[in-house]
Amino acid sequence: MDPKSQRVKLNDGHFIPVLGFGTYAPEEVPKSEALEATKFAIEVGFRHVDSAHLYRNEEQVGQAIRSKIADGTVKREDIFYTSKLWCTSLLPELVRPALEKSLKNLQLDYVDLYIIHSPVPLKPGNKFVPKDESGKLIFDSVDLCHTWEALEKCKDAGLTKSIGVSNFNHKQLEKILNKPGLKYKPVCNQVECHPYLNQSKLLEFCKSHDIVLVAYAALGSQLLSEWVNPNNPVLLEDPVLCAIAKKHKQTPALVALRYQVQRGVVVLAKSFNKKRIKENMQVFDFELTPEDMKAIDGLNRNIRYYDFQQGVGHPEYPFSEEY
Ligand code: NAP
Repeated sequence: MDPKSQRVKLNDGHFIPVLGFGTYAPEEVPKSEALEATKFAIEVGFRHVDSAHLYRNEEQVGQAIRSKIADGTVKREDIFYTSKLWCTSLLPELVRPALEKSLKNLQLDYVDLYIIHSPVPLKPGNKFVPKDESGKLIFDSVDLCHTWEALEKCKDAGLTKSIGVSNFNHKQLEKILNKPGLKYKPVCNQVECHPYLNQSKLLEFCKSHDIVLVAYAALGSQLLSEWVNPNNPVLLEDPVLCAIAKKHKQTPALVALRYQVQRGVVVLAKSFNKKRIKENMQVFDFELTPEDMKAIDGLNRNIRYYDFQQGVGHPEYPFSEEY
């Protein structure tokens, strides 16, 4: 089957391609790499691109998308682009301006999906990560239901086709789902998900509410010291993943991506390396057996690479709940 046509229907009627291209890279990586990698990803068949205001690359990612439209590779409607509302803009009055800023950087008329990046509100202002003199995050207090209502208005205004959330636990999702006067359900919850943190309970919860789970760090993250706990084992070196990969004559990365596709999870893969970007498209070329799936399920060990330790202590810190 043409990999470009592998999409799932969202609860608002739009479709999301099951494989997405991740674009986050640390600050020291030149932004031109995001431009070149995104162009190449679209050339080799990626139709879903994931970025965020926080990544400070929406100018380049937007440029890449527009250049692939201009040269006839794709039409705007072929691309599914996700942006994210950063934690310093969760106050309802800041939501639309934040999305408009992303659209301006992207030079696009709309995004396909706009999601709340994380449920932990931070002090509004110019700093992405506001900290006090002792280096602690400066939190804010916002009712996420009010943030959600502002997202609903953005959808009604046509600035985004769909709206969703990221890094929410099931209680936070329930809060939105049970909100009096809810107009639109979240279409997705984008969370860390890989064989070491397979999110089976959250996945079941999401499926029961027709919410798509989108997996980030599906390859075990970039192990970046700023955000990630460095003491965790390296996923792609896992012996079980490696053995399954060998059996199928594939790579451990492809097995980790295929695992998500087969359990109904939309999966993101970040790479700025041409060989690996191309390789990741091969996720549609093979199938894992039920035994393989079971063996990979057995690797779950609640290892969270992006544990966001700095957020501990905020009442909306999402990862204290079991799921
Ligand atoms: P990831 O997709 O787990 O990738 C981890 C690393 O794997 C990359 O550094 C990449 O390095 C390498 N890689 C890619 N393909 C490979 C292959 N075929 N074989 C071997 N290695 C391979 O990393 P992630 O960036 O943490 O997550 C993916 C995306 O999810 C992000 O880019 C971002 O868009 C999104 N995200 C969202 C959140 C959130 O809070 N919502 C948080 C984190 C990430 P090379 O570039 O060198 O290939």
